[in-house]
Amino acid sequence: MSFYESLTILERIPFRELWQKYTKDDVMRALAKEKLDKEDLLALLSPAASWHLEEMAQKAQRITRSHFGYAVQLFTPMYVADYCVNHCTYCSFSAIHDFPRKKLSLEQVEAEAAAIASSGLRHILLLTGESRKDSPVGYVKDCVKVLRKYFSSISIEVNPLSTEEYQELADTGVDGLTLFQEVYHQETYRKLHVKGPKRNFRARLDAPERGCQAGFRSVNIGALLGLYDWRQEAFMTAMHARYLQDRYPGCEISLSPPRFRPYLGSFNPESDVTDRALVQIILAYRLFLPRSGITLSTREPAELRDRLVHLGVTKMSAGVSTEVGGHTSDGGTPQFEISDSRSVPEIRDMLYGSGLQPVFKDWDILAEGSVR
Ligand code: SF4
Repeated sequence: MSFYESLTILERIPFRELWQKYTKDDVMRALAKEKLDKEDLLALLSPAASWHLEEMAQKAQRITRSHFGYAVQLFTPMYVADYCVNHCTYCSFSAIHDFPRKKLSLEQVEAEAAAIASSGLRHILLLTGESRKDSPVGYVKDCVKVLRKYFSSISIEVNPLSTEEYQELADTGVDGLTLFQEVYHQETYRKLHVKGPKRNFRARLDAPERGCQAGFRSVNIGALLGLYDWRQEAFMTAMHARYLQDRYPGCEISLSPPRFRPYLGSFNPESDVTDRALVQIILAYRLFLPRSGITLSTREPAELRDRLVHLGVTKMSAGVSTEVGGHTSDGGTPQFEISDSRSVPEIRDMLYGSGLQPVFKDWDILAEGSVR
């Protein structure tokens, strides 16, 4: 049994009716509990809970500080290739868009790695477009071998792989996997993923579990908020995270709440996810999953990120470019527009100024070849 079976049962919930049914009492009952169940999560994501964000925030902050202290881990994504065989209606890298594609040579990967590492960052997220032909596992492995000279923690965000392939990458030095389902609502998923292997909903949904089985230290999941009703998508994401956490207690399960951002095409998101909605989602995640990491990207504007770091966020990206080789060259096509373009020192100073502790390194591989 995989999360897919659970999802097909959860999909039968009459969400629209339920959201209206929850009252202040349900929200308060959820807030008074230690371990929250699915009903509590629904209550915290309901319209009724949007009037009680302050109470939710106070408890979320207490939980975050008791599990994570004041630490906020910093990392940055590193794009090494933008070739993609999929047609996702919301992404610049979609195969349908005609622009000069780029893929870094290993020398260029090394230059990019050195440039990023000079900012002090030691955690990196390696990204490619989704193309087995252009960015095969062998290429990812070669990149990882280069990155290990500069970074103590390497996560990947690439096309879904088999358990054996994930194991190979773990053996090479990858310790984290990020894989976004994008949309949990199956009909919408089919509509938005027009062509390519990514159309296979189930293969993608099961990939984070394969990452847990392969022994990655951390697995990060998420829905791209805006593609479908945000309350339902946040609910499914949190249930997916709880499923993985219950079965793989040795793996740190984290969530990202990315909101849709402008890109090369003209797709308009279906659901408007306001700042208030984003706050409610982050708080509900924290209350339902007290031990989960919550990652906040530079898709969000600086002023909002500065406020959200107090509400449950434990990881932030900094000094971000969403272009291939964006730290050492320019002229690439960004995957999407970022909002917070602050440098690593600026984010570090913001965290110190907020009474928080920026963490550049909290992990290393105890094996020959791990340099820093
Ligand atoms: S979201 Fe991923 S799979 Fe889809 S077009 Fe963009 S890079 Fe390719």
